[in-house]
Amino acid sequence: MGNRIQIVEVSPRDGLQADPADLSTATKIELVSRLAAAGHTRIEAASFVSPKAVPKMADGEGVMAGIDRVPGVRYSALALNQRGVERAIEAGADEINGVIVATETFSQRNQGATIEEAIARWRTISDTARAAGAATAVTISAACGCPFEGRVASSKIADIARIIADTEPDEIVVADTIGVGVPSQVVELFGLVAEAMPGAALRGHFHNTRNTALANIGAAVGAGVKVFDSSLGGVGGCPFAPRATGNVPTEDVVYMLHEMSYDTGLDLDALIATSTWLEEELGHEVPSLVAKAGGFPVATSE
Ligand code: ZN
Repeated sequence: MGNRIQIVEVSPRDGLQADPADLSTATKIELVSRLAAAGHTRIEAASFVSPKAVPKMADGEGVMAGIDRVPGVRYSALALNQRGVERAIEAGADEINGVIVATETFSQRNQGATIEEAIARWRTISDTARAAGAATAVTISAACGCPFEGRVASSKIADIARIIADTEPDEIVVADTIGVGVPSQVVELFGLVAEAMPGAALRGHFHNTRNTALANIGAAVGAGVKVFDSSLGGVGGCPFAPRATGNVPTEDVVYMLHEMSYDTGLDLDALIATSTWLEEELGHEVPSLVAKAGGFPVATSE
């Protein structure tokens, strides 16, 4: 299936974590169900980080336990340390996603760890996840730029990928966490990361903070990347630019990919309907444009 592109839906975790609304556990579970019903086969459903650090995500166990598991759907969870991965496995996560921030300042502010410590934590997370039979993915965040250190050399991302290549993650995710990247940079990044970690599947996580996410995805697709994260409605702001948008909207990505003749397995109309539902649950407008405009117009005859 050469024209298949897989979308990892991150709204239940990455999205809701950064949204001003605080949804109930039941509503989060309903969101996950609706996403699976729209055709999603990979959903980032929960986070197992310190409940003190991220109170909104403290109900990870409750969300995972409440999900009506759909066969063929992989439910993933974020873990940043040993305790987190143990909780995620216990809760039944099929895939564990870890994070290494590419710059020292951001790593220490975001995770309270140096890059070296974050790499060591990833090794523990990866070992525990594998021992439990879970898939693993590691995100290198701030890959296109850092809110504290500014520009980040692509070679720095490749260096981190090279250091952790022996953990053999099922996927390595390049994340433009603050939405500053542009297509030429993205193509360079994926090229270097693929060299640094031969054989690993590549995945992109782009934020639309400066309106470049779709262009970056288009460029990455051209460079052979076949898996992307996106968030329904574009839910999940950028914490470093309070008035800006964050995650790229799933329905906008899916519209583009379908019109480019890629198959995502997703039902665009169902995504739009779910996005509209989510907007009501959140109590505020979401950034998606396709949810407002609809899909390609159907021809009308007189
Ligand atoms: Zn994100």
